Amino acid sequence: MGEEETRDFRCNYCGSLTYEDTVKTFLWFNEKPVLIEDIPARVCKKCMEQFYDEKTSYMIDRLRQTKFPRERARRVIEVEVFSLEDVDGEKSSEQAEEAESGEETEVSENQEVKVDYTDLYYAGGDKI
Ligand SMILES: [Zn+2]
Repeated sequence: MGEEETRDFRCNYCGSLTYEDTVKTFLWFNEKPVLIEDIPARVCKKCMEQFYDEKTSYMIDRLRQTKFPRERARRVIEVEVFSLEDVDGEKSSEQAEEAESGEETEVSENQEVKVDYTDLYYAGGDKI
């Protein structure tokens, strides 16, 4: 993945530099989780927010309009489900450190992917 710096585009949220990358995003459609990959995006170096250009947002919307039929999926993956009900809410300093030393570089397969909900919510009218 190219990590080319683009000085002309800064993060709308924190003002940091962004780089071009190809990302995945995970979204809900009618109670069904779907993963979209091969999305060209600019990613904030600091807060990891992803930004899509107009064409990309349009293409995601087109895909959303297909309602993600299973037979068109490239592949099907299993998703592990976790609940906060299973988490000990008391914060220990050890756990806090562990959380921070986790993956924090590029958007990778294992990393939680941030979704630009604004686009997904409003691009097509109806909510996902
Ligand atoms: Zn940012």
